[in-house]
Amino acid sequence: MTYPRRHFLTRVEGVHDVAAAMRQIDLVGPEVPRLRFRPGAHVVVRVPGDTGEARRVYSIWSHEPRHSRLSLRIALHDAGGPGCVWARETQANDRVTLEAPRSKITLDETAAFHLFAGDETGAVPLLAMRAALPKAATVVGVFEAPGAAEEMPAEEPLPWVHRGRASAAGSRVLLRAVKDLELPPGKGAAYIAGESDTCRLLQRLLIEGRGFLRRSIHSQPQWTPGRPGFGAGQD
Ligand SMILES: Cc1cc2nc3c(=O)[nH]c(=O)nc-3n(C[C@H](O)[C@H](O)[C@H](O)COP(=O)(O)OP(=O)(O)OC[C@H]3O[C@@H](n4cnc5c(N)ncnc54)[C@H](O)[C@@H]3O)c2cc1C
Repeated sequence: MTYPRRHFLTRVEGVHDVAAAMRQIDLVGPEVPRLRFRPGAHVVVRVPGDTGEARRVYSIWSHEPRHSRLSLRIALHDAGGPGCVWARETQANDRVTLEAPRSKITLDETAAFHLFAGDETGAVPLLAMRAALPKAATVVGVFEAPGAAEEMPAEEPLPWVHRGRASAAGSRVLLRAVKDLELPPGKGAAYIAGESDTCRLLQRLLIEGRGFLRRSIHSQPQWTPGRPGFGAGQD
């Protein structure tokens, strides 16, 4: 197995639950203060897999260069997988290798307003992006989780809707909530992230039903049923 990408070693500083099925993992390392990336960026984490290492993609929740700390928030989903198992089992002082941050979505600073929508996995990059906006920015949005216990806390929260036991794939609950959002005037930018079918349906709704231009929609599909290692490329 070869890894051409730049990578660096970190140590798990601490692990704690931030919601019923969402675990924050704080990583520290000498390379961390030097990392440069834009809000919404992600890293590949090399977690233990069945046959050596598996590569799994996680958004950067927070970066505190002064403390050499990078924090991730990882959904503990029922289907399981090496990323999920690592998040459940890792403990302080474990070592883990990360690949340098990359970005798929980031903020459009010129937009009149910013719309955020996604499931609980999408809420990680989207709330990190929302936190990077100036206080005066106009923000709307909605996130979706199974129930109130799974809502992820944030300093500047947005509303959540609940899908209950329904599938997060192609979520009708989130679609309806975005359809009902009251939009501010002007040309907005929309940021959507989470299950891939939901992202596709949200994008279509925003273009056909809410007057967004395709180029104003920044979409980051993050997982899809039955596709292990989504977005990580080849092992
Ligand atoms: C750019 C990007 C950023 C991401 N950021 C985050 C993040 O910040 N936090 C986060 O939790 N995830 C994030 N993800 C999603 C995460 O990378 C995947 O969910 C990952 O594949 C999970 O790894 P795993 O080893 O647990 O499961 P895998 O081995 O990848 O998959 C095993 C099975 O679990 C299913 N599965 C995977 N994720 C979920 C889920 N959330 N709910 C239900 N079933 C699932 C798969 O479809 C598959 O059937 C991101 C993905 C991308 C592409």
